[in-house]
Amino acid sequence: MGQEAGEKWTDAVVLQPTIPKSDRLLDPALLPLPQPLPRGGRGGRLADLLRSATERLSLTLPPREARLEAQILFAHGLGVNRAWLIGHDRDRLTPEQIAAVAALLKRRLAGEPVAYLLGEREFYGRPFRVTPDVLIPRPDTELLVELALERLPPNEALKVLDIGVGSGAVAVSLALERPRCRVTGVDLSAGALRVAEANAEALRAGVEFLISDGYEALGGRRFHLIASNPPYIAAADPHLKQGDLRFEPPLALASGGDGLDLIRRLVSEAPAHLEPGGWLLLEHGWDQAAAVRALLREAGFSAVFSATDLGGHERVTGGDFSL
Ligand code: GLN
Repeated sequence: MGQEAGEKWTDAVVLQPTIPKSDRLLDPALLPLPQPLPRGGRGGRLADLLRSATERLSLTLPPREARLEAQILFAHGLGVNRAWLIGHDRDRLTPEQIAAVAALLKRRLAGEPVAYLLGEREFYGRPFRVTPDVLIPRPDTELLVELALERLPPNEALKVLDIGVGSGAVAVSLALERPRCRVTGVDLSAGALRVAEANAEALRAGVEFLISDGYEALGGRRFHLIASNPPYIAAADPHLKQGDLRFEPPLALASGGDGLDLIRRLVSEAPAHLEPGGWLLLEHGWDQAAAVRALLREAGFSAVFSATDLGGHERVTGGDFSL
């Protein structure tokens, strides 16, 4: 994955099957009150400040990750890259620089996700702008993109739909990998669509975006492939109150008592929006694959399958509709 060292820890270890590693961060109430960083003068040496920030991040992260996160936050706050930090560790920072870094560290210690602090997260090899209006793209979702690409021959001009585009990570990646396809992305959130449009523009992807609750705004339109990473967490799942999820849009995360409310709708209404032989591919929770396969079969899909993510969990389920 990408040029940002920050990517390494997001896919390396998983605490809970569907919960990214950054969610190890404890409830801020459990943290000792952060000490202010030393203010300039003798205390302002970059190496000392980095060590102090690392120590505080170590309260909730393993030491190597804490050091990496400290470097990422310092690099962002100072407007430099991590290599610069290593070469300048004897430098003294100005009070303004210290204030910028301390503000980021304080927000991180209060649990804000690194991706929101940086305003960016890499997905499928490209940088995507992210704001609290959108779910932070997860490495797991690259599986959804790969499975879609396998079903989209490069030379065919097929119609593709992404439901719940969020940051646009899936729709934009598909549009860029398959320039001949016509990709449409819908979302219920106007805020998310603004982020997705900005990403499509910055990455020069031709995607049609529409505000829509599920398929509603699409009328009778049909597609050769529908892909979605919908909200799928059960409303009462305690993980929603932990780590990054606390800061992400609830609309993008939870869907009913068993998490499957939207998935049920997307499956039952899909046949009216698929071309003959068209595919529906859905990301879901680590323990939902059997339920989603059953929903697809009940709705008349064939070639129903589930695919496993890097963490070894069945993460995406799909089928094709040939009736
Ligand atoms: N994969 C996310 C998580 O469990 C959830 C995203 C979603 O609901 N689509 O952290």
